[in-house]
Amino acid sequence: MSTSMLRLVWVYPDLLSTYGDRGNLLILSHRAESRGILTESVMVRSDQALPRQADIYLIGGGEDGPQSLAAEKLIADGAVAEAADAGRVVFAVCAGYQILGTSFIASDRECAGLGLLDMRSDRGPSRAVGELAGPVNPALGLPTLTGFENHGGRTHLGPETAALANVSHGIGNDGSTEGAFRGKVVGTYLHGPALARNPALADLLLAWAVGRAPEELPPLDDRWAQQLRQERIAALV
Ligand code: GLN
Repeated sequence: MSTSMLRLVWVYPDLLSTYGDRGNLLILSHRAESRGILTESVMVRSDQALPRQADIYLIGGGEDGPQSLAAEKLIADGAVAEAADAGRVVFAVCAGYQILGTSFIASDRECAGLGLLDMRSDRGPSRAVGELAGPVNPALGLPTLTGFENHGGRTHLGPETAALANVSHGIGNDGSTEGAFRGKVVGTYLHGPALARNPALADLLLAWAVGRAPEELPPLDDRWAQQLRQERIAALV
């Protein structure tokens, strides 16, 4: 296992930190350090330049106003797009996820996204709020995805972008699929935070970042997370 420092970037906490998604940063750092992988967590506000050389970029959810501002700043900054092109890991939630697409609607206005995922978001007939669960795309080899969603947008995937999961309960992208990925760029509607609720997904992102297979990461004691997952999934059926 690499002994070099893993650099995690929490993107724009002043704009995209409304829904507790910083927990994803804490989970990744904890799960890496528990395996002896040292981490450095960097929080970069929207008036600062994002580092070009990080290993994992995390983008959280937010309200419409901050979301459109964040998208403008991310496009102008260029670091996340550059990192994605260079094969670094990008993990984004809800507003951050919509920003990864080509366009999204915020405050009744169409806004440009980063275009890292072939998808666009518009508004749905009602707000999607509640628990979501569904089987993950088999290409990723992960157990059921579970978490909490809270969004007005609906996301339509183009042919270049694979869904992260199918939806068996909840709304996700459009009532049938949830989230998306291309290469090591992954987006989801799930808060909760998503990586606390889905430790195997956290390990997949870590494994990508350190250039290992997920099975090569030593197992951790995930009893509490597993119990929570089972309770939430059981409550939905
Ligand atoms: N503003 C976006 C929407 O409602 C994202 C919301 C969020 O990040 N929870 O679709």
